[in-house]
Amino acid sequence: MQCQVSPLADRTREHYNAGVQVYIVRVEDKLISREGRVLLAQTDLNSLGLDAASAVDLGLCSSGARMGLLSAPAEQQVPEGYDCHTLRELMRSVPEADFRCAARGVHLAHWDRTHRYCGCCGTETVRVGEEVARRCPTCGSVVYPRISPAVIVAVVRDGRLLLAHNSRRASRYYSVIAGFVEPGETLEECVAREVAEETGITVGNIRYMRSQPWPFPDSLMIAFVCDYQAGEIQVDGVEIDHAFWCRPDELPDIPPRSSVARYLIDWFVASHS
Ligand SMILES: [Zn+2]
Repeated sequence: MQCQVSPLADRTREHYNAGVQVYIVRVEDKLISREGRVLLAQTDLNSLGLDAASAVDLGLCSSGARMGLLSAPAEQQVPEGYDCHTLRELMRSVPEADFRCAARGVHLAHWDRTHRYCGCCGTETVRVGEEVARRCPTCGSVVYPRISPAVIVAVVRDGRLLLAHNSRRASRYYSVIAGFVEPGETLEECVAREVAEETGITVGNIRYMRSQPWPFPDSLMIAFVCDYQAGEIQVDGVEIDHAFWCRPDELPDIPPRSSVARYLIDWFVASHS
């Protein structure tokens, strides 16, 4: 069987072939980019005055290039032609393949930074050679990058979509329901629980749609659609302060196109207009 490789933009393919070394450069919570590219080359490090020898190896990114992470000091000079953006900002502006690589880098950098000491005995951990793992030299405990799965779900009732406003979010965005998977729970159970807890609605016929790595800081979003079964909207008032059944032609402010939340909303509009 032939392996399906996701199409990469020509520019990306040209720059980031297998065997190529690329770098992401972090300045506090931002990444340095140049002309819409966030995966930088040795020549960019020269321009920025950074030494490749201090890069942390992050393994291979999805394009096949080997990726290194450099953390520049807060006072790093950013020469003309270079920009500094948060990962969320880059999500909307760089090609998806580039974003995926940068997201992997930021996710791994967060894990590296938060697992410097052994959770069993407190000894400082060290990176394991070829594997993306950290090992404790005292007790031998090995930790791998943590991924926190979360479900996100479009609930549909008679041609209307359940949209909710998150009370912790300053923006006016309305989105579909999402939440973290708990230990011992299936993804479908998580979907049903999150919708019930946040809006008081019971759902069924839960179907998988797609997934998206979500490095804020270490999630994997797993997207579903499902049907309304019973109940009336009653928001929890903690996570959700307002929710309503939305017709495809009356959408409020919704998340940007690069997010899986928007993918679900676009799916709803396309299949119910
Ligand atoms: Zn230990």
